[in-house]
Amino acid sequence: MANTTIIDGKAKAAELSESITAATTALVEKRGVKPGLSVVIVGEDPASQVYVRNKKRTAEACGFNSVQHTLAADSSQEQVLALIQQLNADPTVHGILVQLPLPAQLNEQEITQSILPDKDVDGFHFQNIGMLTAGHIDGAFVPCTPAGCMLMIEDQLGKDLSGLNAVIIGRSNIVGKPMASLLLKANATVTICHSRTKDLPSVARNADILVAAVGRPQMVKGDWIKPGAIVIDVGINRIQVDVDGEIKNRLVGDVDFEEAVKVAGAITPVPGGVGPMTIALLMLNTLRSAERSAS
Ligand code: NAD
Repeated sequence: MANTTIIDGKAKAAELSESITAATTALVEKRGVKPGLSVVIVGEDPASQVYVRNKKRTAEACGFNSVQHTLAADSSQEQVLALIQQLNADPTVHGILVQLPLPAQLNEQEITQSILPDKDVDGFHFQNIGMLTAGHIDGAFVPCTPAGCMLMIEDQLGKDLSGLNAVIIGRSNIVGKPMASLLLKANATVTICHSRTKDLPSVARNADILVAAVGRPQMVKGDWIKPGAIVIDVGINRIQVDVDGEIKNRLVGDVDFEEAVKVAGAITPVPGGVGPMTIALLMLNTLRSAERSAS
């Protein structure tokens, strides 16, 4: 453990937010454009409300115009699409995000694909996914979580990952797959694992860079990790633990931190690792969108 770096995502996100705030002030002064972020939330899922509140607070701290649109849980597809059309047409809105998951009656794909690619700061539109997959990273909005992970990996290993093995556990469209595109673009040799992968521990042990994005508390054990590897823990899981006879809620990642920290060269904690970086990258994407609209 002595030589293991605990990657401080909170500090890095704060640094990034500071530079975003400075760039925002310059954009307002020089071009008269204030970045605008619209967040759409449907229903009252408590976890989603916490995420949306955090995003709004950070956007305001960066000097953005941040508007939350809360729709009733029983909203129809037409109502949500009408709101998106209105935001698409509003020149003061540079970023639109729809907080997921959506209630069951709504067609999530149709809604995320109705956001203009130029305002799709979550990077979920097929046009942005296509550009990322084709390696046109500068032109695309890259999904915020993998983009934040990549910045932390670059801090440890530099921008060129030639010769390094990267293993991603999880193949979701919002984390696993875009993470693979980013690592591939940086010349890593990439393996994507998922629920059907055989002998996951032995695949994971090949990784110089191990990214866990599964949603299973503390699944990745210390003996899955190659000594010295960099471990990025995307998972956010709420578990209950017994503290001196009292049951308490605790947030843990997909990696067994206590074990992994003894083996890894560098590791992100949960909380305080990937989470804060995700929000900072959302701000960066919104700033970029506003800058593009002003140029
Ligand atoms: P998801 O449910 O869409 O995907 C999970 C993936 O894990 C799937 O591809 C599945 O094949 C794989 N998987 C499931 N069980 C497995 C197993 N036993 N072995 C190997 N692979 C398995 O989840 P997601 O949206 O990608 O999120 C993953 C985790 O990351 C969740 O805990 C989520 O809360 C968290 N998350 C965190 C942030 C953040 O900002 N920190 C952002 C997004 C997601």
